[in-house]
Amino acid sequence: MLNGCVLSLKSCRIECFKMKEESAALYVVPTPLGNLADLSQRAIDTLCAVRWIAAEDTRHTAPLLKHIGATAKLIAAHEHNENEAGAKIVAHLAAGETVALVSDAGTPGISDPGARIVAAVRAAGHRIIPLPGPCAATTALCAAGLPDAHFFFVGFLPAKAGQRRHALETLRALPAALVFYEAPHRVIETLEDMAVVLGGNRNLVIARELTKLFESIHACPLTEATDWLKADANRLRGEFVLIVSGNSAANKDDDSERVLKLLLDDGLPVKQAARLTAEITGAAKNELYRLALSLKDQA
Ligand code: SAM
Repeated sequence: MLNGCVLSLKSCRIECFKMKEESAALYVVPTPLGNLADLSQRAIDTLCAVRWIAAEDTRHTAPLLKHIGATAKLIAAHEHNENEAGAKIVAHLAAGETVALVSDAGTPGISDPGARIVAAVRAAGHRIIPLPGPCAATTALCAAGLPDAHFFFVGFLPAKAGQRRHALETLRALPAALVFYEAPHRVIETLEDMAVVLGGNRNLVIARELTKLFESIHACPLTEATDWLKADANRLRGEFVLIVSGNSAANKDDDSERVLKLLLDDGLPVKQAARLTAEITGAAKNELYRLALSLKDQA
């Protein structure tokens, strides 16, 4: 009885699989971040069924395809040739052939090439079939445990310090958890900038080497992050997702008080300090004026 069920489930799967093989479509296929077992059965079936596989780095993807026995022909599709790759893919689809799109790891189009290919395929009127699967941002988010109801995916910040700080300024007021990708050689300077621009008391989650042997997920206030990382050289190795809690009312109050104190310490009159703080943080001027008077009294 049990065998019969398994068999009928299997034949159902094979039927679906045959249907897919016949229809020209672009399949967007996520691949593991580091743990081969995270490649889904549907991803394996798709990669084994399609005629063509467009890969960010064909040399990187070849061993994975060999491992699952996929024999599709490869097309290089990286950030420097995405438009030409898109045109090739559209031509294959027009000839009635199936194509899968993969990146080196995780989900194509998420801080990876893919968006321009998808747009070209849609513009040409062909079907796009996305498969769910590994993505560093969502993997980190589900283990973050932050109270934010929303999240905002930033991906990589600019490498240059000035541009990075400017980008952080534009994110400071968002009432949503901020999700960043960062390279190990830049993680310290990025966290330092985040503490200054976003406010050191915000909660941070550092998710490193997700799904891999040395996976670690650490939570702390932003202001403590660099000390924690520097305390052990191993903590600076590998791949990082950084998640910073959003600008809640509590953070706003803390930010306003911090800015107000700085301006008062610099010798600005109470009225002017309150006005400037209101402009910088968006907090109410009257409340800041009252807070400034009480801070002056305490001083
Ligand atoms: N498309 C991928 C995805 O779906 O997550 C992201 C590709 S992006 C070029 C690579 C960045 O993703 C890394 O620099 C790191 O910030 C993050 N990342 C990838 N794998 C990771 C892992 N195993 N642990 C933590 N972060 C990871």
